[in-house]
Amino acid sequence: MADNRYDIVIAGAGPAGLSAAIYALRAGKSVMLLEAAQFGGQIVNTPEVENYPGIKHISGFDFAYGLYEQAMALGAQIAFERAESVEDLGDRKIVHGVKNDYEAGAVILATGAKNRPLGLEAEQRFIGHGISYCATCDGAFFRGRVVAVNGGGNTAIEDAAYLAGICEKVYLIHRREQFRGEERAVEALRGRGNVEFVLNATVTDLFPDEAGERLGAVEVTDKNSGETRRLDVACLFVAIGQIPENSGFADVARLDEKGYIAAGEDCLTGTPGVYTAGDCRTKTVRQLVTAASDGAVAALAAASMLDAK
Ligand SMILES: Cc1cc2nc3c(=O)[nH]c(=O)nc-3n(C[C@H](O)[C@H](O)[C@H](O)COP(=O)(O)OP(=O)(O)OC[C@H]3O[C@@H](n4cnc5c(N)ncnc54)[C@H](O)[C@@H]3O)c2cc1C
Repeated sequence: MADNRYDIVIAGAGPAGLSAAIYALRAGKSVMLLEAAQFGGQIVNTPEVENYPGIKHISGFDFAYGLYEQAMALGAQIAFERAESVEDLGDRKIVHGVKNDYEAGAVILATGAKNRPLGLEAEQRFIGHGISYCATCDGAFFRGRVVAVNGGGNTAIEDAAYLAGICEKVYLIHRREQFRGEERAVEALRGRGNVEFVLNATVTDLFPDEAGERLGAVEVTDKNSGETRRLDVACLFVAIGQIPENSGFADVARLDEKGYIAAGEDCLTGTPGVYTAGDCRTKTVRQLVTAASDGAVAALAAASMLDAK
């Protein structure tokens, strides 16, 4: 424990956490990043990023690696272990990791969110190769193609509307008859000539294309009749929700009804010295650019709080 003292401990080395590290280090603070899996977060799963301002085209891994290298070159330290909880001792915080404890003057929670998976065996294999969890990010790669969206909430409806504007055809697969999303948006979607609603149906299998490398078709099963149907699609956009994993931090950060950390653009939680950044916090746009900007805001707030002591 004696050596595990830092100005700022950051839970999560995704785009938000790494951006926070860069800003904190440049503000003269010592930083320890705790990462439960691999650095880079969700973005390492996508082969192409084309919407980060200033970078025309980059792979998700290269983007993440660039951030990681930049943070490391500035002197960040990283430990590959999950942060389980934060103990608030006033001016000091103890971050309890799976293996070690870390002491800090300030903590930034940047634990992101996981897309809720379909739970099908072949799913992992096609992520980034015809399975996407982000239509805003990946839709443009399927311009003029036939795609499917799975989900019944606002995200799925918005995704289907966006894709209908650029794709030849969109199947909207939903396990119920009624949508959870806005009725007006559903009606607007019904008016589009290239959207086919596949209702009371679940995605039950995934098939490769002829080359065997990318997704080529999905199987849907009607919940009432049990009949199956094969839809040839270039991509399946899965929009069945995200899962934040913040329950361990509920003592120091209020969670909203969905489990996201309730904080606004200022990235402040209710506990002095505990900040949050990126996809793990309550927000409407979950993208690289918003994660990076949260990282900057949280780190600079933490640094000035420490300077004021
Ligand atoms: C397939 C895909 C494609 C995408 N494409 C784009 C795109 O083209 N453009 C774009 O702008 N956005 C895109 N996004 C969204 C973008 O990846 C996210 O908005 C961004 O990664 C959020 O960054 P984050 O750091 O907040 O969270 P995350 O990326 O989720 O990173 C959080 C990190 O924290 C770690 N972690 C979680 N819990 C703990 C814990 N308790 N202790 C320690 N570590 C923990 C995780 O392992 C992870 O590494 C895409 C997302 C996906 C899934």
